Amino acid sequence: MTTLDALMKRNRDFAAEQSAAGLLMASLPRALPNVKALIISCADMRVDPAHVLGVKLGEAVVFRNIGGRVTPGTLEMLGLLGRITQVAGESPRAGGDFCLIVLHHTDCGITRLTGDPEMLTDYFEISKEELQAKAVPDPRAAVAVDVAALRATPALPGEWLVSGLVYDVATGLVDIIVPPAPVRVADTRQ
Ligand SMILES: [Zn+2]
Repeated sequence: MTTLDALMKRNRDFAAEQSAAGLLMASLPRALPNVKALIISCADMRVDPAHVLGVKLGEAVVFRNIGGRVTPGTLEMLGLLGRITQVAGESPRAGGDFCLIVLHHTDCGITRLTGDPEMLTDYFEISKEELQAKAVPDPRAAVAVDVAALRATPALPGEWLVSGLVYDVATGLVDIIVPPAPVRVADTRQ
């Protein structure tokens, strides 16, 4: 059996189980009001939020890239997502319980790119001088850098709770590095 054959078999099992339980997404009137989180995480096969955080079908939008970093590409996807939900007349839950999570991890492959600074400067679209501030070798520092980058993004809803987590691939445990707090404190000038 090829890898694809095995995956297709799993898909048929999935469809049968979900359909029997009435859980297929099409049966929900609207998917987005059920979304509880937007997670930015690494593409590494060991750190899928569905497994590491037990995210269930329909619970979270997950963006994955090399390192789980907030890059111009990540921000572009956030912008497109905002537009899609606007066009669909849906928006992620209002109120203070929508989580925006940056999930980095130990032993990340991105740390092996530190010998190729040009690849990293292209990825982040920054100059070589700015690269050190991205804290690529240290996931704990990097997750704080990326949470700060999200806080500096005016297009994000201010009431979303943004946090920064690091998953330890050796223990399986996730540490909260940046505790959840609103993207922006309420503007008191209003
Ligand atoms: Zn990684």
